[in-house]
Amino acid sequence: MKIKSIKSLLILAVVFVVAFIINHGTAMFNPVEKIDGFEIHYIDVGQADATAVFLPDGKTMLIDGGNSGDGIIIKKHLKRYGIKRIDYIVSTHPHEDHIGGLSYVINNFDIGEIYMPKVSYDSAIYTQLLETISSYGYTINSAKKGVCITENDEYKAEILSPIRDEYDDMNHYSVIMKLTYKNTSYLFTGDAEVVNEKDLSGDISADVLKVGHHGSDTSSSEDFLDRVNPEIAVIHVGKNNSYNHPHNVVIKRLNERNIKILRTDMDGTIIIKSDGINITYEGARK
Ligand SMILES: [Zn+2]
Repeated sequence: MKIKSIKSLLILAVVFVVAFIINHGTAMFNPVEKIDGFEIHYIDVGQADATAVFLPDGKTMLIDGGNSGDGIIIKKHLKRYGIKRIDYIVSTHPHEDHIGGLSYVINNFDIGEIYMPKVSYDSAIYTQLLETISSYGYTINSAKKGVCITENDEYKAEILSPIRDEYDDMNHYSVIMKLTYKNTSYLFTGDAEVVNEKDLSGDISADVLKVGHHGSDTSSSEDFLDRVNPEIAVIHVGKNNSYNHPHNVVIKRLNERNIKILRTDMDGTIIIKSDGINITYEGARK
């Protein structure tokens, strides 16, 4: 009788442990990771762009949303850090490799403000994105030169391009945004090309440059690289992509200027951290 009751107790204990693991398993084995002040995560979404910026006051910005199907990668990445709300979404331009996963993201997070260049584009994915945005009653803020997305004593996110009302190529509508955090600065370019680089006026210097158009030779002119004068260049690019990105000439220009190159196809998701003075970087594939 005594032996039996001990056995039942053991069974009961096992049942409780199994139930606990089922209920809390994800949290137990994947505890929420801490964001250390200011961080930028260039998320590895293959041949596409998706960048999460974690601002020091706890706000989150997402610049682009990868290809269709990448929304789940972005969601998993943000959930790892306990993110429930995206305060700012910046969609650089309507090509699929930049907006593909945004509908999924909008369906899965509480969203603050959305910024997009004002341009019409005929694609099922873009139409679906616009429908998703309006289904929640969100409005779209027009992204253009001079628009300041957010600014306080510590940081500022300012749009430098598009500048013109019309361009002859969809890439040229790309949002170029400069983010400043204390003494450090970061330039985001979407798929902007040389015509956009030439149009930029004023101080476009930055410590970290997201290389335009996945390292294509349509972008990253010598003059532009000299003006930005970055220490680190991040290339969002997929392994063995059909465009042969990044192009050798761009890699050569970066190397000639002793700019540290980080690439999502080689380094995986790239994490940049800063205290506002120093910048550190690491790739997921160390
Ligand atoms: Zn692209």
